[in-house]
Formats: sequence, C-alpha cells, structure tokens
Amino acid sequence: MQQLPITDVRHILEKKFAKNKVTILVGETGSGKSTQVPQFIKDMGYGKERIAITQPRRVAAINLAKRVAEETNSKLGLAVGYSVRFQNMSGPNTRIKFLTDGMLLRELLLKPSLDQYSTVILDEAHERTVTTDLLMGFLKDLVAKRSNLRLIVMSATLDADRFSRFFDGAEVLYVQGRRFPVQRYYLSRPVEDVVDACVRTAIQIHVGEPTGDILAFLAGQEDIDKAKDLLDGLSGGFQKGVPELVALPLYAALPPQQQMRVFEKLPNSQRKIILATNIAETSLTVSGVRYVIDGGTHKVKVWRHDLGLDSLLTMPISKSNAAQRMGRAGREAAGKVYRLYTEPDYETLRGQSEPEIERCDVAFPILTLKSAGVIDIIGWNWLERPNKGAIMSALTQLYVLKALDDDGAITDFGLKMALLPLSPRFSAVLLRSQERGVESPVLDIVSCLSIENLVMNPHPDKRDEVNEKRLPFVAASGGMGDLITLRSYLLHFRSLETAEEKRDWCKEVHINYRAISNVEDVRKQLERYLKSNANGTTNNESKLTNSEINESIIKCFLSGFAANTALMIPGKQYSTTAGGQTINIHPSSSMFGKKAPAIMYTEFIYTTKAYARNVSPIELEWLQKIAPHYLGRMFGGSEE
Ligand code: ADP
Ligand code: MG
Repeated sequence: MQQLPITDVRHILEKKFAKNKVTILVGETGSGKSTQVPQFIKDMGYGKERIAITQPRRVAAINLAKRVAEETNSKLGLAVGYSVRFQNMSGPNTRIKFLTDGMLLRELLLKPSLDQYSTVILDEAHERTVTTDLLMGFLKDLVAKRSNLRLIVMSATLDADRFSRFFDGAEVLYVQGRRFPVQRYYLSRPVEDVVDACVRTAIQIHVGEPTGDILAFLAGQEDIDKAKDLLDGLSGGFQKGVPELVALPLYAALPPQQQMRVFEKLPNSQRKIILATNIAETSLTVSGVRYVIDGGTHKVKVWRHDLGLDSLLTMPISKSNAAQRMGRAGREAAGKVYRLYTEPDYETLRGQSEPEIERCDVAFPILTLKSAGVIDIIGWNWLERPNKGAIMSALTQLYVLKALDDDGAITDFGLKMALLPLSPRFSAVLLRSQERGVESPVLDIVSCLSIENLVMNPHPDKRDEVNEKRLPFVAASGGMGDLITLRSYLLHFRSLETAEEKRDWCKEVHINYRAISNVEDVRKQLERYLKSNANGTTNNESKLTNSEINESIIKCFLSGFAANTALMIPGKQYSTTAGGQTINIHPSSSMFGKKAPAIMYTEFIYTTKAYARNVSPIELEWLQKIAPHYLGRMFGGSEE
C-alpha cells in the first residue's frame, strides 16, 4: 500500500493528542485522517480506550468502518464497528466506532457524560451540518467537565480558525497532502443541459486524453442516472483501440454493494467514470482519478418559510467546493478539471457554502437542546446561532406538535420525540399512533417514507403501463391517497412468498426491490425505539373497519403535518394553509387529477412548479379539530 501523507507525521500527532484536550486537525482529502487517526489513538495504548468518530453521511460511516476493519484485520462489528440510523454494527467490545453525527447526538441525550468514550473525533467538520455544529457545542461543555476526554475536530478545508476560536484557542495541526498541479478548463459559454455537457466532456477526455479515471460531479441521483444511461448507450461505439468506458454511479441512496464498485480496480482495457454527488468531494476518496468534471451544482436542504418545510434545492456550489472538486484530480499525478461553467460565473460563486444551520429547519436541534435541559436557547453555546426568526418558528412548530408546553418547557411527549431518529413531525405522528391504537400500520408507512426512492418514477414510455399495474393498489386504498397506497404496496409485497415473486412484482409496479426489502429492517428498528418509549399502548386495530383504520392513520399524520395542508382553489390547484402559496399535486401521486377539498402532504418539491408529494385527502373538519389555528389564519386573512 502506498504510504499516506498522515503516516509521515504520526509521531508528531500522537504527541499532540497526548498533550491536548482539544485538537483541530486539518488535512487534505485523502491524506488519511478518517481511516488513520482513530487507529493512531487506539495504538497509543491507553488500555481500553474507546473512540467515537462521527461522519455527516451514513455511507461514509459504513465505508470507513469496513475499510478500517480490513486494515486492522478485524471482523466488522467487533473491534471496529459502526452505528448509523436503522443499522447498528457495533458491540460491547468495539474500540473504534464510526457513527453518523445524529447517532452520537442520540447517545449524548441518553448519557450526557458520554463516558463510554475517551476520545471523540468530529470528522468532516468543514461540512458544517447542523448536527456536527450542535455536537461541538455539547462537547465544548463536556471537555471542560470531564478530565479524561479527548476531542479531535477534523476538517478538509483551511478555515480552521473558526473552530480553534470556538474551542478557546485549541491548537490547529496541518497535514501536508501531496498535491500535483491541476489544469483548469472553463466553458466559453454557459450550457443549458449540464448532463449533456458532462457526457460530451467525458467522451472528449476518453478519446483524447491518456489513461486515468474520470470523476464527474452532478447534483443528484436523477442527473446521475441520466448521464449513466447516456454513457451506457455509447459503449462499444468507440473506435478500435479505444478502451471501454465504464460508468459507475455514486450517491447516498445507492445500495452499498454498488457503492463499493467505485473502489474496484478495472483492467487496462477499461476506463472508469464515476458519476457522483458531492459525497465524493471530501468524505470518500477513490484512487486513480486524473480528470474531474465539475457540474457546478449540488443539492442543499433549504428551509422555506412560505411552505413551512425543508426542501432539497439544486444550488450553485461555492468556490471552496470547486477547489475541493478540483483537488480530486491532482492527488496522485498532475490532472485536469473541466468546469461546466464559465470563468465569470465562477467569480460570482460565494467563497464558502452557508452553514446548514443558517438555512434549515431548526426544530430538531432545538428539541434536542430542550431535551438536554437547555433553557436559554438564544444564549446557548452555538458555533453559529440560527437567526431569531428561525428559532421562533421552530419553537412554534414544537409547540404545535405539543413537544413544548405553554411556558416553552419540554413536555413528556417532547422528551420521547427527541429520542426518535426522525424529524419532529414524524416522531409526533408515530407517538400519536400509539395513542390511537394504529401503531402498526403507521409504523409500516413511516418506515416506507424513511427509505428514499422506494416508489420509482417510470420512464415516460412505460408510464401508462406501470400506472395500470398500480391501479389495484390505489383502489385498495379506498381513495385515501398516497400514504395508504404505500401501505397497500407493502402489504402485498409481504404477502408474496418467494424472492422471485417479489422481484417480479416490484419490476411490474416499478418499486425499488432493494429499498422495499429494507423496509422490514427499518420498521424493526423503529419499533424498538418506540418500545423503549412505550407506556401501555392500546391496540384498536382489530375493532375497526378498514376505512376507519385508514382515517385514523391519516389523522395521526395530520397531527404532525397540519402545517403541510392546502385547500383547493380553481384549476385543480391548491393554496397552502400556512402561507397561501399555490401548489400542485405531483403527477406521481395517486391523487393526481383528482379533486379533494383539502389535502395534506409530507413532501414538497420544486421543479418547474411547486409540487406536493405523498398526498392524502383530508376533511376540513379534521384540520379544524387538530390544528384550528391554520384554518383561522386562512379565513381570518389578517396576515398580509
Ligand atoms: P481523509 O479522511 O484524509 O480524506 P481517508 O482516511 O478517508 O482520508 O483515506 C485515506 C486513503 O485510503 C485514501 O487514499 C483512500 O483512497 C483510501 N481508502 C479509504 N477508504 C477506502 C476503501 N473503502 N477502499 C479503498 N481505498 C480506500
Ligand atoms: Mg475523511
């Protein structure tokens, strides 16, 4: 194995880690921080030292744990393990544990001293996810309280001063990466279709440039799948002597085995092109890359005040992202980056991306703080304090969900919510379902919704055919909308006996077989979380008719999603109760083209228009009962 840059400075690092309570470690992506630092600490020999290392992405946590288990010749789940939402591969003897930042936060709520760990490493701190930011606040307190706790904050970008200042001048160490020159190319004119430009650039590189793999950054799964289809369509179309071009996707929702394929070495007769989201920017490093194509955008979560909802939007990257992407081309030799934007456009990019906490719904972080006993939210140890408007709207949301009482103190219900690994809305839905005695069907649905891309969008050519196959399941929902339909898919899937039958049926109705196969696993985990919370639940299900059960299910969801409701206006459109914004039912919905006086939705997307997804019809009366304030605002008209 090639020596990593970090091994050169191992002894220096060890000395510093031994001396400092808090250390900030900055090192270029691929220098060996995530895989080596936990091993250094373990080998420093403090007896039964236990190390937690966090990652913002579950894919990274899983892959890194696998890699470190391999490097240390141990079986995954024993000395080296991981814990991510809905999946735990660690045990009492685990010494190095990779966790998503969310899982460490949960452990912290359950055991505020975190004394199961002697070292906590917060990795990828530069990403500034809400959860990593929160962990920094909690850990700052904790290192002051615990004399035997060591904290290491790791970042791939140079702006580490922010972290150092926050930790009262903690020492910043730098690992020099190997960096070769990277030649930059810009477009002379902007393009409309980034996917098309990406494919054309890839072909140009493939035909004209010497060996070396290609890494292309695109915004999301849709673009990546599109590019892969186009590239697959070309295979074999090159002249004799030109190697084959193998397109490999890499995004979070991809099954792990497929993700691992990007690391495999291909024979010389093939060239790899990895089509990735920003996941390959800093958290995963693939060797062999000499050419980078930078599409210039990424998806970010943005809080929409008008909708009262987080939504994923495709946005321009920052200069710092662009530099990271470029760096991927020059890790092992001189390389080239092709930026699919113009140089003047590059100049307009902002220097750094805004930290997530400044643009996201902060209901979950605030619930976490309340649950940890923090009273003064505004005055807390924020690395970056969200603006007061965002805090107020989160407090309102939590109050409406009954997680907070009239005095703003956390309720028992709120304490339970904080321990579920879901957004506060879904947590409220699940807990209400226990009270209404429809826990089991609601668990089914929430589990389905926790898995991305379960119901796939058929290709336009196949849409009619697939919709016809789906019809019986829509009918089985009794017109109660997408949530109930989702459950009828799941019930049917469960009723099929062999894997072959299941797979065939999934193909027919265009349901992601792997994804739906994971539902039971997720459900089991969620059920376990709920059980640890339970307080004598009732089961009404057997006494009710199907349509009564369905109604009860929708009402549970309404108690969490009252803010995501809309009333019909002329032209098959809807106007949101929270902000009076016009939205449409997404064509993928079973409610598309149907009329309902009012709807509730769990998801909002914005493409050419604003769309509601996962739509259920509701009765005004239910809304009046569960969340009268929304209707009041609607008809009172005092907002404007
Ligand atoms: P950093 O955290 O500094 O970005 P890492 O510790 O993640 O660096 O990676 C160090 C090296 O290990 C990289 O060169 C990378 O290519 C290699 N590596 C990491 N994970 C894997 C894996 N699953 N398979 C193959 N190589 C890997
Ligand atoms: Mg890393």
